Amino acid sequence: MASQIAYMHIMSYFKKILYLSDYQSINSINLCAFLLVVAQFFPTFVQADSPLDVTVQSQHLTGNWYYSWSAPQTDPRDAQWNDSPSRWTAIDFPADLPDKNGNVVWLRLDVPQGGWRDPHIYISSIDLTVQVFENRNLIYQFGDFAADGSSQFNGWPWHIIPIDKGSLGKTIYFRVFSDYPYIGLSGEALIGNKAELLAPIYQRGIIGVLFVTLVCLAGLMSMSIGIVKNDHSLAVATGVMSVDLSLMMFAENELSQVLYYDPLLWRYVAAFSYFLVPVFLSWVLWGWLKQKRPFIILPALLCSVGFVGVTAGLTIFTEFSFVNAYPFFDMFFIAVVLLLLVFCARPLNHVGLQGQVVVFSIVALFVSLVVDMLSAHGFIQWVGRTGQWGLVLFAIASLSIYLIKDWRQQVVLSILTNTLELQVEERTKELQESKSKLEKLAREDFLTGLLNRRAFMEQAAKEVANAVRHKRPLSLVLFDIDFFKTINDQYGHATGDEVLRKLSVVARKQCREGDLICRYGGEEFVILLHATMPEDAKNLVERLQRHINDLVISPSEDVNITVTASFGLVSLVDENHNVSDADRLLARLLSSADDAMYNVKKTGRNGIESCVLQGKKNTLQ
Ligand code: GH3
Ligand code: MG
Ligand code: MG
Repeated sequence: MASQIAYMHIMSYFKKILYLSDYQSINSINLCAFLLVVAQFFPTFVQADSPLDVTVQSQHLTGNWYYSWSAPQTDPRDAQWNDSPSRWTAIDFPADLPDKNGNVVWLRLDVPQGGWRDPHIYISSIDLTVQVFENRNLIYQFGDFAADGSSQFNGWPWHIIPIDKGSLGKTIYFRVFSDYPYIGLSGEALIGNKAELLAPIYQRGIIGVLFVTLVCLAGLMSMSIGIVKNDHSLAVATGVMSVDLSLMMFAENELSQVLYYDPLLWRYVAAFSYFLVPVFLSWVLWGWLKQKRPFIILPALLCSVGFVGVTAGLTIFTEFSFVNAYPFFDMFFIAVVLLLLVFCARPLNHVGLQGQVVVFSIVALFVSLVVDMLSAHGFIQWVGRTGQWGLVLFAIASLSIYLIKDWRQQVVLSILTNTLELQVEERTKELQESKSKLEKLAREDFLTGLLNRRAFMEQAAKEVANAVRHKRPLSLVLFDIDFFKTINDQYGHATGDEVLRKLSVVARKQCREGDLICRYGGEEFVILLHATMPEDAKNLVERLQRHINDLVISPSEDVNITVTASFGLVSLVDENHNVSDADRLLARLLSSADDAMYNVKKTGRNGIESCVLQGKKNTLQ
């Protein structure tokens, strides 16, 4: 309750400021009127029957108007206007007065008797300029008047006319001038306290500004998306059209004259941004129907540009006023949009959902502007600004077209990405397989699958270094098949290969995991036995020799080949070697084993000779 009373106090404070301020200083009361309007959005606080609410409702001015094509006559007795009713024609509301007879009409209004503390008359619009008199006193004027009563178009603002309290219940006169096809008032006229009259104007204005912002933002968003998507021409067309529409909406908005009082300027902006609509519409369609443009678009575009150019030219260089172009433009606009719709609807439908949205948006724009037009020309009742709904729909549709397009591209892109990812995964797997295959091939002997010489040297050097570092023993055995050439010669090269393969299998079986077994050369093999003392190594070599001797290769049923080999074994037990000598040490181990093996060859083959590498000396055992 306390908050409601506080609210009422604040409201009456705002209203007081509004009462005190006059129309000329309207900008100074913007904030108050704005807050008043904002406050009215919270109706739970507003109680019509509150004791603080002393306002008297505004009243529509209908049914108390008269008009006359000639000026009121002056009564010689008191120099007041003679108010003989026979000279006046009664009319419900003096909009678009019939039987237009000249460019000046006089209106008479019987001002209602009301309890207004701050009476004002609000008029939506006047065709075209006006002077208002309380009897013979000029109380309000819009436009400049020559001595003969002629005047010039000065814009179509809304009017708020201060009325003296003493004039309530009496008669006031309007002298209206118009060289336009229509003469009189248009829209609506109300009498009431200024604050109550202004509040709905601000309310409508603010809602209108929200629409303007929406249209402008939607347009700018479409433009940015289009530019990002490299769809420049269409993006710019849609963006410029939305900016044009929002400019037009703002120029038509009731708050534009509050922001800056120059009705003629705002009328110029409103008219030319309106005349430009078919230009941008054709341009947008031109952008949309890139693939298959109906021939009508180009002529529509050129004619629309021509219309704007001719109107501007005539306005600048002749007596013609651009406002007189409105009726022509309305007809031209209907024709152009209908033609564009007829010729473009089908190709646009082929574009799919986006095309249908374009058609829908043009229809919405068209219908709303036609309704606006019809109400402006008085064919239908004044319906307010339906145009802005159409414009908003158009702008939102343009944006949604881009969003649909973008969404579709995203879907296609994500499908492509998924497929691509799968393909990449597959290829990577294949590549890894071939890489490891290649690596294996590079390290393996192709015939036996044992380590090749290069791989052995690499790994053996590491093993030797480790053994030295950790002071572990290590043995190396080198063996060569005896008289292998004879096997080749007698049974063929393939049999020789078979012998090599089988012998490799035997060698592998006798070694432990981690021992390095290598085909060192043609029929020569080397085994590095890690952490193996000379005795254990000797045992292993003896076992290996036995198994080789037991090996039987049968290239054919009646042929059994057996082989022998000569072994040279060297062990590393000395703990005083240097790690940096690993490569040299390996070379020495190999050379010692080779020497030992050759000794066996020289002394009859199929035997084992072992030695221990100590310092620089080999100790033969
Ligand atoms: P020794 O007892 O003195 O070692 O006599 P050997 O015949 O075994 O030695 P020699 O060096 O005279 O001959 C080795 C032969 O091994 C010669 C070469 O044709 C053969 N050889 C080398 N690599 C391969 C191979 O991959 N496959 C086959 N089948 N034979 C090979
Ligand atoms: Mg040999
Ligand atoms: Mg050999």
